[in-house]
Amino acid sequence: MKLCRFDYRGKISIGCWEGDRVRVCSGDLLGSYELTSATLGPEDVRLLAPVLPGKIIGIGRNYAEHARELGNTPPGAEPLIFLKPPSSILAAGEPILLPRGSQRVDHEAELGVVIGKTTRNLDEKDDPLRYILGYSCVNDVTARDLQKRDIQFTRAKGFDTFCPFGPWIETELRSAGLRVEARVNGEKRQSGNTADMIFPVAHLLRFLSGIMTLNPGDLIATGTPAGVGPLVDGDLVEVEVEGIGVLRNPVKAR
Ligand code: MG
Repeated sequence: MKLCRFDYRGKISIGCWEGDRVRVCSGDLLGSYELTSATLGPEDVRLLAPVLPGKIIGIGRNYAEHARELGNTPPGAEPLIFLKPPSSILAAGEPILLPRGSQRVDHEAELGVVIGKTTRNLDEKDDPLRYILGYSCVNDVTARDLQKRDIQFTRAKGFDTFCPFGPWIETELRSAGLRVEARVNGEKRQSGNTADMIFPVAHLLRFLSGIMTLNPGDLIATGTPAGVGPLVDGDLVEVEVEGIGVLRNPVKAR
């Protein structure tokens, strides 16, 4: 199912896409929910971020070719992780705002993993995929100049609007072998495949769950393939993950 959250006439609701219409649901996407008999057309709904994550965990340099394009060596035995603040979440269609203090803001197309069940200290016997609600598209927008200037990634990846997420959560998908693309104004900039992740999703969940409890709704941005590049005022950036859909956001100067 393609689970979504939306605004309909000022009221926030949840639903799932059936073809090009939204079936309204009652309940909670992170708990139990039921389909209702009501459907709405795409013109009726303004999409919101599918869930509001309590935390967003980013994975750095999870594709070797991307690590090398920025002059970094790929990670060794363990994933490189960082946090993005929940305040950076942005819905599909809403504008990415370029901060005045940066001269270089890049797109990073990524597969997003949304946690469905409390996940803590998974061991080799646990199947990490059972804890996943579904997958979505994420744009891990990054102020590259500030990332190079700072030791921590917090400022470079933490601005408001720097985490476009959506347009929905696909619950019937496997994370292996999915094409991950970014397009800017229709031109292809990134084209990778989740098969090339250094640490696949199951490995990431085991690793992360031994550090911090993953709660329902938490979002993991699993790293970006090669081809990152700048966004400027007036651009339209699209992140597409095979089997999920297209996350589209305009770019505006702040
Ligand atoms: Mg990234």
